[in-house]
Order: sequence, then structure tokens, then C-alpha cells
Amino acid sequence: MTTKPPLDNLMMDYPLTLTHFFERARRLFANKTLGTRVPGVGLQKSTYADFAGRTARLSAALAALGVGKRDRVGTFAWNSHRHLEIYFAAPLMGAVLHTVNIRLSAQDIRYIVNHAADRVLIVDASLWPILAPIRGELSTVEHVIVMADTPGATIPRGTLDYEQLVAATPPMSEWPKLAETDAAGMCYTSGTTGHPKGVVYTHRAIFLHSMASSMADVFALSERDVILHIVPMFHANAWCVPFAAVLNGATQVFGGPNPQPRDIVELIHQERVTFVGAVPTVWIAIDALLEAEPRWDISSVRMIPIGGSAAPRALLEKFEKKYGVSLLHAWGMTEMTPLGTVCRLKSSMTSLADDERYAIRAKQGIPVGGVDLRIVDEAGREQPWDGRSMGEIQVRGPWILRSYYDSAESADRFTDDGWFRTGDVAVLDPEGYVQITDRTKDLIKSGGEWISSIDVETMIMAHPKVLEAAVIAVPHPKWVERPLACVVPRPGETVTAEEILDFLRPKLARWALPDDVVLIETVPKTSVGKFDKKVLRERFKDWRR
Ligand code: ADP
Repeated sequence: MTTKPPLDNLMMDYPLTLTHFFERARRLFANKTLGTRVPGVGLQKSTYADFAGRTARLSAALAALGVGKRDRVGTFAWNSHRHLEIYFAAPLMGAVLHTVNIRLSAQDIRYIVNHAADRVLIVDASLWPILAPIRGELSTVEHVIVMADTPGATIPRGTLDYEQLVAATPPMSEWPKLAETDAAGMCYTSGTTGHPKGVVYTHRAIFLHSMASSMADVFALSERDVILHIVPMFHANAWCVPFAAVLNGATQVFGGPNPQPRDIVELIHQERVTFVGAVPTVWIAIDALLEAEPRWDISSVRMIPIGGSAAPRALLEKFEKKYGVSLLHAWGMTEMTPLGTVCRLKSSMTSLADDERYAIRAKQGIPVGGVDLRIVDEAGREQPWDGRSMGEIQVRGPWILRSYYDSAESADRFTDDGWFRTGDVAVLDPEGYVQITDRTKDLIKSGGEWISSIDVETMIMAHPKVLEAAVIAVPHPKWVERPLACVVPRPGETVTAEEILDFLRPKLARWALPDDVVLIETVPKTSVGKFDKKVLRERFKDWRR
């Protein structure tokens, strides 16, 4: 009897690790530029060759401090080329990059750093005052390394100087062999219920996510792009774009300490930025600035991915028609590295009337190749893609978490058949476009009918006198909950509750019309710049018409 020659598994078992991204960029893109905004100075420029050399030195310096395989290296920092160095220095030596959200409360920061058991923390000097008071309570942290991020910044006593460490340490001579399933990075979700929960990204997840986000029908990232990083590098790894940028060898510009709308448009204008993502509140503020200061030219931008919360249709339309810049609506989560869907029109839709096209583009889009997605009702039944049936979005795929890090309370976030329950409620149309109605906790239940707060908000934000709008549920004796609209007028405009209600009346079912409109000065924002409805619900909990 002859034995059959092997047929399966005849391709190399090549691990999908970040070492490949780094080595590729080091060899192919040495002369490409990196720049970090330094307040009062301008753009501090360097090259990928500098990045590669400094990263290899930083890895060696971390090893010399005793950092080893699986040890967590925390960052507490703004977006900068140094932060990018840590993005690679830690995972390439087998350690784990842990980006800590600088905007959380001291209590959450303490919890997160201790829970992740960070051994080293690398901190921007300008942010040290936040950490200094709780340093003594960060029991696992053996070394604090400080980066001078502003001119004249000093390195506090008892900490190590980042630049000195990098300058004084010879580079790592060889990278260790890694498995693609090794932990590379870690982010905590913002913990609206219970403690924040840790998501651990494998090398493989980041590798595949970076390839997916480079695809033509996703972000189409390329070597020719000039990418400005405004999404904080502690917010789902800046949506993983820095990794994809290194893979592609794109020019990268980092927003530096606390960038304001004017800093952002100035960077776009001066550096001819082609790609820059941010949450909707940032683009709402930039729109207001561009109205007031028309001298800025942002037409170099070929794409703005916008997500994190729903992008109002009026904003998409305005950026395209007035500023000549296309916004790409995307949906994702920290738990998904973070990309789930992006909203590009299919070729059959490009000839649709303006109105229909924008209606589709305001949806969150179709699942990215690599992500399986379904909607499921409360009884666990999968819902049809009919544009009407609502359900919770459940997902699975190679860059979606299988489990939170060391968290007993999170088992209910996964179904028995292996899907992740996102907690977002949506409808799917027959073409597969997802439209998020709400987060489960933001839905408004009025007399047995669900009202989508997102729908009503985006309608209100189409009013020319409105800058921002958040719609929340307030308790009601008869209907259980009723919608209340909290509205911020555009600078210099006055608007009345009646004007807003008159504007909504023809567009909404009677029962979905907010009971009232309250005018407020600003919508409170979360640590990553989303509308913080929790704060508004608390503020208006006793509200009665
Ligand atoms: P946080 O809990 O801090 O907001 P994430 O950034 O991971 O953390 O948030 C993910 C959530 O943001 C999603 O579950 C969803 O509710 C919301 N979200 C993200 N993108 C969109 C979008 N395009 N439209 C509506 N909601 C979105």
C-alpha cells in the first residue's frame, strides 16, 4: 500500500507578530518622517530610522530594568513618536504594552495599574502631577520613566529619564522569538458598570487587524498617506492605526499634549494630512472653528474615519459639501481591537440620489472582512436583515476578545456558541448595513415602545442653529420613561425649545417626540470624548414637564 503524500498544512507556520511590521519598516522606510507637535515650538520631526534605533534601545533598557516576558509596561501619555516607540519596544521584547487612559479618575487609574500589575510606567512629564499623588499606591510598579513632552519639562526625583535611558543603552542585538498568540497589548474599557475590564490583544490580532484596516474598502492605508493621530493612543490603541501605519510605512504626525481643534486644523493644513480619525465631538468642534476661521484648508484629507459614537448625518454632509472632505462612519469597540464595521457605499449605490446616499452613509456600515456579525433578540433568536427587526449585535472573529483579563464577572458577555455580546442594539438592512439604535443602557422605553436616542439626536443636530444634542430617558409615572432633549446652540445663536420641537414634529412619530428640550451650555463628555449621558441622566433625574 502506498502512503498518500501530505496535502494539508503545506504552508509555513510563520507567526503573525509585530516583529515583522517593525523590521519591514526599518528596512524599507528609513527615510520616512515622524513628527510630534510640541506646544510653543512646532513639529519635532524625526525619521523611521530614528524610530527603529530608539525602539531597539528602549527594549534593551527595559530588559536591563528587569522587564521580561509577559511583564506589563504601562504608558500614561499623550500621542507622540515616543509613545510609538513604546508601542513596539514592549511587545517586541515579549512584554505587554498597557496604555492607561489619562482621563480616568485617580480611583480607576489606581485600580487599572494594580490589576494589570504594571512593572514599569512610562509617563509624560506634563501628566506626572496626576500620578504623583497616587504613586505610593501603585504597588507593582518598580520603575517610573518620565518623558519630557513640553519644552523645559523636568524629570522628577525618584524617576528615570526616558531620553537618558534611550541614549545610554546599546540596542537590542536580536529580537526574541515570539508566538503569534503571545500578549502584545492591553487596554481597559471605561467601566460604566462595575470595575474597568482588561482586554488583551495578541500579536496575531493586531497583525490581522492592521492588514484589514489597510484594505481598499476599509481605510485603504498606504505608504503615501500622511496620518495624523488624534484618537488618543490610550483609546483602543488609537484604533490600531499606529500599527497599520508602521506596516505601510506611512508618514505619521502625532498630536502631542492636549491638542485643541485649532492645533488639529493647523497640523492638517501645514503637513497636508491625508488621514485623520476622531470621535464625532471633535469634528463638531472643528466644524465650528472652520466656520469662524475660514482661512484653514483641510482639503488635503482624503478620509476621516469617524466613530466611537454615532456620526450625525448633517456632519457627514457638511464636511463633504463645504470642506470637500469625506467622513467614513465606522463602528467598533475596545474589545474588537477595535474595528467592526465601516460604511462605504457599494458600487450599486453610488448612483442613488444625494438624500438616499447620505441616509446610508450615516449608518455604521457593513462588517469588515474578518468579522462575523449577527443581531439577536432578548430570547436569543437571530433577527432577519430586514431594516426593521432590532437586536443586540453579537460578533466573532480573529481580533475579537475571547475573554477579559482576570475577570470573573464577564462570562455573561459571551454566548454559549462562542459569540461576543456587544451590548449595542441595532437593525440590519437587506444589504447588510448596520444601524446602531443605541447602547442597551441608553435606549428609552416609553410605554412599551423603544425610542432610539441616537435617531433623535442626529435629527436635532441637523438643525442649523444646533451644535450638539443628547437625548436621555427621564422617569415618567405613566410611560415609565420619556425622552428629554438636551441641546447646545451653536456659538452666537439662540434657539428655543419650540423651534426644535417644530423641526422634529414632521420627522418623528408622536410618541417619540421629546417631552421637552432643555438648553444647556455643553454636553458633558466621557474620558474619550463621547457624550456622557450618565451625567445628564443624573442631572435631570427629577425633571418634570
Ligand atoms: P467606551 O465604553 O469607553 O465608550 P469603547 O470606545 O470601546 O469604550 O466604546 C465602544 C462603544 O462605542 C460601542 O459599543 C458603541 O456603543 C459605541 N460606538 C462606537 N462606534 C459607534 C458608532 N459609529 N455609532 C454609534 N455608537 C458607536
